[in-house]
Amino acid sequence: PAKKQLGQHFLADRSYIDKIVLAVSPKDDDRLVEIGPGQGAITLPLLRRHPRLTVIEFDRDLIAPLTAAAAPLGELTIVHRDVLQVDFTELAAGGQIRLVGNLPYNISSPILFHAMEHAAVIRDMHFMLQKEVVDRMAAEPGSKVFGRLSVMLQAWCKVTALFVVPPGAFRPPPKVDSAVVRLVPRDPATVDIRDRKRFAEVVKAAFGQRRKTLRNALNNVVSPAQFEAAGVRSDARAEQLEVAQFIALANVPPLDGDDAA
Ligand code: SAM
Repeated sequence: PAKKQLGQHFLADRSYIDKIVLAVSPKDDDRLVEIGPGQGAITLPLLRRHPRLTVIEFDRDLIAPLTAAAAPLGELTIVHRDVLQVDFTELAAGGQIRLVGNLPYNISSPILFHAMEHAAVIRDMHFMLQKEVVDRMAAEPGSKVFGRLSVMLQAWCKVTALFVVPPGAFRPPPKVDSAVVRLVPRDPATVDIRDRKRFAEVVKAAFGQRRKTLRNALNNVVSPAQFEAAGVRSDARAEQLEVAQFIALANVPPLDGDDAA
């Protein structure tokens, strides 16, 4: 039986599995890594199209059946570990990996943030998530759901919502609609974030009180002189700012005479 705490909702509808495999369209040299293969709903079709695959699965009970099902199809490497403890950079071993996964929804944000830490070794990601989360990930400034997740992911990746998947496509069905999203990391040389921690701090504080003006929400985090240096209006609200403006704000060093920064 599915384990609730591990977010086990197994894909059962062939047409959506096909859509995911088509979205990934693996090429011969690709190094595919699947997060949470479960009973192999996506794993086995991928292995039919591609000679080898690495999967990361936390549930010990799934390892043996998965190994057996994969054996006739191709070379499956199973990493039996919590995905949040997996070093993707080490896994990529000097190359780049492509991540795929119908993610456990209870830890989807931590997985996304974990992947951003390793964005330089990831060529792309195709993830199934709650539709509501995908909407936030792909949202643009001005949208009601544009927020911390949108900015943190879009700073490193191009984010594209691909298609919606209804609860009935899973066993057992989740309570909410799901969607598949594609993230393509930008060339790291073009991402001008000087200090990841500072950037995360500014974005978090800005959306912590999203109804307030930035001046108020970022009181104690960004000084008036820093707003000015970044060319960002402090009477704007977080949801109106472009991602590049958040980066600019976070990049301004503490200025002389600042007591706020
Ligand atoms: N890919 C399968 C499918 O589509 O039918 C299963 C998807 S299910 C939503 C999520 C999978 O992630 C489960 O197999 C679960 O055991 C696994 N999982 C949950 N937490 C995990 C973690 N921290 N690290 C690795 N795998 C995890």
